[in-house]
Amino acid sequence: MNPIGHIGLTVGAAFVANQVAGRAAFGSIHRRWHPLSYVAVGLGSMLPDLVDKPLALLFLQDAATRTYGHTLLFSIALCLAGLAFLLASGRTYGLALAGGSLGHLALDAMWALPHVLYWPLLGGGFPRVHEDISFLEMVWWALNDPVRVAGDMLGLLALALVVAWVVAEKGIKRLQRDARHRAVTTENEPV
Ligand SMILES: [Zn+2]
Repeated sequence: MNPIGHIGLTVGAAFVANQVAGRAAFGSIHRRWHPLSYVAVGLGSMLPDLVDKPLALLFLQDAATRTYGHTLLFSIALCLAGLAFLLASGRTYGLALAGGSLGHLALDAMWALPHVLYWPLLGGGFPRVHEDISFLEMVWWALNDPVRVAGDMLGLLALALVVAWVVAEKGIKRLQRDARHRAVTTENEPV
């Protein structure tokens, strides 16, 4: 999955979860949910790559680019930190970041790489790869892979819908507030 597919699809899934399941199952999280939490979801949806790609470039020359950031352990640690942050501050940004990271693992189909996903439970290090293609060839392949391109299109659509919904919801709330304010002002006007 390319970055825009990761960000858009994960933010879209978080939006649906927050709108549907959030109200019933996680009511207190839904009530505290700030629209900026979607930015945290988007950041979290790229976090495993943001951790592992530089690591691979700098230190793990022969290793795959899916290592520590793509483990369940990394996302569980983020969830616990996010929960602690929620309890301490009442803000959902940390949990949103952790949810985005879990979404990245799902979209990368990490169950196909159990030695990475469940590291270190299955023992051994991360599988090493020796790819014979350059970075530019890899980017070109990613941009021409129909599944990835379809994911990007869907992600872009999901992102546009979430942004439109949040902006419209904010606008409606402002109009309602203004109307209430006008009604109170009119009531208090001397006759
Ligand atoms: Zn990844």
